[in-house]
Amino acid sequence: MISINGTQINYYYICKTKLWLFSHNIHMEQESDNVKFGKTLHEDSYKKDNEVLIDNLINVDFIKHNNPIEIHEVKKTQSMKKSHEFQLLYYIYYLKKEKGLNNVVGYLNYPLNRKMFKIELISEKEKELESTLFDINKIICSDIPKPKKSRICRKCAYFEFCFC
Ligand code: SF4
Repeated sequence: MISINGTQINYYYICKTKLWLFSHNIHMEQESDNVKFGKTLHEDSYKKDNEVLIDNLINVDFIKHNNPIEIHEVKKTQSMKKSHEFQLLYYIYYLKKEKGLNNVVGYLNYPLNRKMFKIELISEKEKELESTLFDINKIICSDIPKPKKSRICRKCAYFEFCFC
């Protein structure tokens, strides 16, 4: 049974310290204006569609029941595109492994840029994702990774925790 959630995958590609803090239930995101803006953006852009929470683990922004089934993720900017891509790949992987759904494709939506990217779980990506899942478990079970200051830290809700 897989127990990693989409946010952990996202944080793995952003910052390993952030991943560790979040995974140990140290949550400060509600204080971040950046996160609030992201939520507002989502609500404004896709009012008619509904979020779908699966197994209390996978939170899909919206689903289109076509063939293949489309799962959509809405993001603000493309600056963290790899983390967005792997979060969505993980959702497809989860639906395949835990629900037996083999006909799912993902779409990354960037409404501010009017861009949309199709994401498919090809075997090369699946291998990379499995190695990521292994690594995430290793990080969570180890000591907190030392914070490394980068350009993204200023907008991070954990900034004071890491550097003050
Ligand atoms: S402030 Fe920087 S180092 Fe600390 S969790 Fe956030 S991104 Fe990571």
